[in-house]
Amino acid sequence: MQEKCGVVGISLEDRAAARPLYYSLYALQHRGQESAGIVTHDGFQQHSHVGMGLVGDAFGPEDLQQLNGTQGIGHVRYPTAGSVNAPCAQPFSVSFKSGSLGLSHNGNLVNADEVGDQLANLGHAFTSDGDTEVIAHDLARNLLEEDLVRAVKRTMSRIHGSYSLTIMHDDTVLGVRDPEGNRPLCIGELEDGYALASESAAIDTLDGELIRDVKPGELVVLHADGTGYDTYQLVQAENTAHCFFEHVYFARPDSIINEELVYEVRRELGRQLWDESGIDSDVVMPVPDSGRSFASGYAEAANEDPNADGVEFAEGLMKNRYVGRTFIMPTQDERERAVRMKLNPIKSTVEGKTVTLIDDSIVRGTTSTQLVELMRDAGAEAVHVRIGAPQIIAPCYMGIDMASRDELIAADRSVEEIRDEIEADSLSYLSIDAVAAALNQSKADLCLGCVTGEYPYDIEGETTDREVDRPSIGDPQLADD
Ligand code: 5GP
Ligand code: MG
Repeated sequence: MQEKCGVVGISLEDRAAARPLYYSLYALQHRGQESAGIVTHDGFQQHSHVGMGLVGDAFGPEDLQQLNGTQGIGHVRYPTAGSVNAPCAQPFSVSFKSGSLGLSHNGNLVNADEVGDQLANLGHAFTSDGDTEVIAHDLARNLLEEDLVRAVKRTMSRIHGSYSLTIMHDDTVLGVRDPEGNRPLCIGELEDGYALASESAAIDTLDGELIRDVKPGELVVLHADGTGYDTYQLVQAENTAHCFFEHVYFARPDSIINEELVYEVRRELGRQLWDESGIDSDVVMPVPDSGRSFASGYAEAANEDPNADGVEFAEGLMKNRYVGRTFIMPTQDERERAVRMKLNPIKSTVEGKTVTLIDDSIVRGTTSTQLVELMRDAGAEAVHVRIGAPQIIAPCYMGIDMASRDELIAADRSVEEIRDEIEADSLSYLSIDAVAAALNQSKADLCLGCVTGEYPYDIEGETTDREVDRPSIGDPQLADD
């Protein structure tokens, strides 16, 4: 099961955590719209509320009222095809012999079945097929024998894959990031406490200050009295595997990830796109909203280029913001209709002109096919398409729901074949090298699985691009270090 989600954790001095958690989930709404949940602890017991839908729908005023306590964690869950069932909603919470545990997970384990089977054979009963529950049970088991830090370390040595976690063990809130740092997680200081969140925009919402990213392989323990935190570097991997797609599409442009403002990274990707494959046209037009920052960088570079004619940057597509996400509609027919409902051209900016459409990515090709046709219907003389990411040729196993290989338009087509398919006058993607340069990272420290087909994790049936230390899951409970 793939989960691309948002997580938060908050510890405050003497103010209820429920509202700040709720507001921070609002800030992370783009990371998940299927369900939202909060678990708090009042020093004696856990309180939990999980609801389906958007944050605003999942919680009523009474729900927030009963979430007592100055500590808590929260989660927004991304809808993935076929998983619209409540047991998967998070935070996941359990009570066991040595206390209560709440868990919010962003990412995807690649060895959850193995660890889960082992625990099931030892008598653990699972209520869902989610990998988050596997982590919770493993941790619960380790906590019977070890202190918190060692228990987390032991669980980290057994699970393999992508995980940014916020955890609540009794009234202590923790943040954990997998050794490869695949998904983001950061820590911030609030006026009267500390917060962990998938993205810094959530900390901004709480009027807090971003302190830094949680390091890959690091555990952060927030003090239960809200006055500080401790960190432990529990696992160290040789290379990171940051997901480049967070910067390209997923994260908010106003978030800072890896010390880079996502908006500026996207503008730089747009500038590189001009450098690599710029083409003269009358107007440059973003596909809202995801193409905006790319298009502004692209148009800026075009207008600075002494060898180019100069372009007009125009918002030629209006977006109906009340139409939900088109990506997850079950049938191709519905997806096409939804694109048409969502985007409408402003004819005067298009008619009689040559147009360059800029989007962040092409997945199935639905959006670009429809938009090229729309532009022609609106009277465009020529339609060029420029994409701020490389061709997506392989599925994501690390938490971004990108559809399966046979649905990906670039899986088995050349760029020229895709151009022909979407009926554009020209089409270019950004190179992988340009992506690494714009992110200020070496390719060896990025997860590029979806654009290379080689993964930084050991995934059954796929090839890996590095020497992967897949942990042997070992004995589930004996501490030896
Ligand atoms: P396509 O229409 O080619 O299937 O998808 C491309 C469009 O979907 C782009 O406009 C891009 O911004 C958006 N997109 C890319 N990845 C994702 C994703 O994981 N989820 C959603 N909802 N949209 C995506
Ligand atoms: Mg888009």
